[in-house]
Amino acid sequence: MSKQYVYEIGGKLYANLTNKCSNACVFCVRNYDTDRKKPHGYEGYDLWLDKEPSAEEVIYALDKYNLSKYKELVFCGYGEPTYRFDVLEEVARYAHSKGLRTRINTNGQANAILGIDVSERLCRAIDVIGISLNQVTPEKYDAVCHSIFGKKAFDIMIEFAKLCVAHGGNVIFSVVDCIGKEDIERARVIADEVGAQLRVREMIDE
Ligand code: SF4
Repeated sequence: MSKQYVYEIGGKLYANLTNKCSNACVFCVRNYDTDRKKPHGYEGYDLWLDKEPSAEEVIYALDKYNLSKYKELVFCGYGEPTYRFDVLEEVARYAHSKGLRTRINTNGQANAILGIDVSERLCRAIDVIGISLNQVTPEKYDAVCHSIFGKKAFDIMIEFAKLCVAHGGNVIFSVVDCIGKEDIERARVIADEVGAQLRVREMIDE
C-alpha cells in the first residue's frame, strides 16, 4: 500500500485518486495485483493506496515533477477517478494552470455513482474523455464488467457519453480487438450514434 498519487509512464503523468470502482472487470489490471501487502505493482508503481488523497496532496505530488516537461495529465489509476470528482476538478484546474492537457480514463458511470449529472463539469475539467466501451450490448458488458449497476450499466455509460458530447466534450470510446470484427463494427455504429470517436486497442497478453 502506498501514497502513489501521481506516477509517470512513457513521458506522461497519471493521477491515481482512488481504489474504488463500480465495475469488477474480468480483465482489470488490478486482478493481477491482489495481494495488497506484497503488490506486484503496475509498471513498477504500487497503486494500492493506503488512503485516498486530497487535491492538495495530489498537487503536492505533481509538483515533484518538472511539469514543463510534460504535455498531459491522465486521470487513471487503480480505480474509477470520478468517485473523487471534487478532487479531480481541482487537480485538473491546477494541471491546466500549468499548461497540461487533461485526459480521463473512465467507465462512464459517474452520474450513477454520484447521483448527480456531472457531465458538463467533466467536460470543463477534462480535455479528452476516454470511456471504456468494452462491449456492444448490456448483456455482453455485464458479463465482463460486473458493474454494481448490473445490466443497466451499459445504458448508463452510453447516456453519459451522449451528455458529454452534448456539452462539447471530446469523447473517445475504446474497445479491445479481441471482441471480434463484427462487434468492432457494432461499436463503430454506437460511437457514431453518440458522436464519439472509437479507438480499437490491440489485445495485450499478460
Ligand atoms: S472500470 Fe477500470 S478500474 Fe474499474 S474494474 Fe474495470 S478496468 Fe478495473
